[in-house]
Amino acid sequence: MLLTLMPTVVDPPMITDALGRIEAEGLWDEVSGRCTGTIRKMPLSPALARIVRMVTWSENRRIALGWFRNVTAILWLTMPFDYIVAPQALTAIVLGHGVLSTSTYLLARRAWRDIGHERWQGLTTCLFTFVVMLSAIYTGSELGGQDFERLLNIGFFGLAVGLVLLPLSLWWTSWTAAVLGLAFLASQYVNPAIGDANGLLYTLYFSILSIALIYTRMHMIRRQVRSTLARLSEARHRHMLVQAYDRLRIMAATDPLTGLYNRQAMADAFARLTGEMAADAPLSVAMIDIDDFKRLNDSLGHAVGDQALRTMGTLLQDLAAAHRAVCGRIGGEEFLILLPHTDGAGARQWVATLMQALADRAIPNPESRIAPQVTVSAGIVSTTTGEGHGLEALMRAADQALYAAKRAGRNRVAAADMPPSSILV
Ligand code: GH3
Ligand code: MG
Ligand code: MG
Repeated sequence: MLLTLMPTVVDPPMITDALGRIEAEGLWDEVSGRCTGTIRKMPLSPALARIVRMVTWSENRRIALGWFRNVTAILWLTMPFDYIVAPQALTAIVLGHGVLSTSTYLLARRAWRDIGHERWQGLTTCLFTFVVMLSAIYTGSELGGQDFERLLNIGFFGLAVGLVLLPLSLWWTSWTAAVLGLAFLASQYVNPAIGDANGLLYTLYFSILSIALIYTRMHMIRRQVRSTLARLSEARHRHMLVQAYDRLRIMAATDPLTGLYNRQAMADAFARLTGEMAADAPLSVAMIDIDDFKRLNDSLGHAVGDQALRTMGTLLQDLAAAHRAVCGRIGGEEFLILLPHTDGAGARQWVATLMQALADRAIPNPESRIAPQVTVSAGIVSTTTGEGHGLEALMRAADQALYAAKRAGRNRVAAADMPPSSILV
């Protein structure tokens, strides 16, 4: 393909990756069903759930790591205050808030750093919840009285926020809530200031709050899944649109038979080239026409004629690529070549190379009056960008030179200068 098209959509790699996987695993029906609401209640298929988890991971990871870090930082910040309130509890404060909680935090951080297994992330979250509550009980029991209750309540609420924020599945959120509830219940029994019946009642209240938070988490999961699927589906449509648009652009700019640029694309290429080139750079334009092509069609048939045009197109493309030239098919068996940074001698050389390559290919044209194989005549014109000639004027001059080459016997090159005063065959 001649045109190199810049990709117009740049999606993050995980979106492109997810689109590929959905395509490969044939999951688009499920995605569209969920986006349009025809599939609702059923849980996601495991394959799609894996893809959604992959897409949402970087955002989820940030939330989780941030939460663990903040809770641990708060624990550290409370250490001096707890010490001021109860210097006798120093060991409990350092061991509970500091050593135990921080090491569990480091463990959880490891689990949440890479996508890994959710089981591992769920387990470390449960452990962290348990250890922070344990540290509250330990420090609280040393502080005693109202301070004990205060620590337990703060611990519970801090961790309960995690039930909503931490991007765990419903299953692991429920397990974390269960660990939190049981640890809270245990703390009520350990706290001498609270009677057993009251402890049970408080745990019940707090558990109701936990259930409400789990419910909120469930909605957040659903919303994240829905928005991720909508994002993927939208990305897919955008990709399809861009592909269609690219195909259209290629179709509009190329000749379907040879894949070479068409006349309009050549005009665009000329404008682009002259815009990029230095003000006084040499530039040549060549018009090439197959000799006695009608005779090839008449003797071997139109299909063979088409094949000869295709071969000619490939030859021109290969040569053009090697010389940074641009070539197009502008008529039945007529081709236009733009040769940037090439003067008259260079253009003659280029056409001579083409003629040699064509002779080597020996495409049959048995009825040709010149040779039993395809030959071409060429008209070239050379100028510099500084002279400011437009493509139309250059083509007219090259055409006159081509006409002169035909008249002089075909299978040859004629060169005109600009503006055309004399033509050298
Ligand atoms: P000259 O050496 O003077 O150029 O002679 P010619 O026969 O090449 O030129 P002429 O203009 O008389 O004939 C061009 C022929 O090209 C006529 C037409 O049938 C053929 N042609 C134009 N487009 C196509 C095409 O797409 N496929 C095929 N097979 N032939 C085509
Ligand atoms: Mg011809
Ligand atoms: Mg012609």
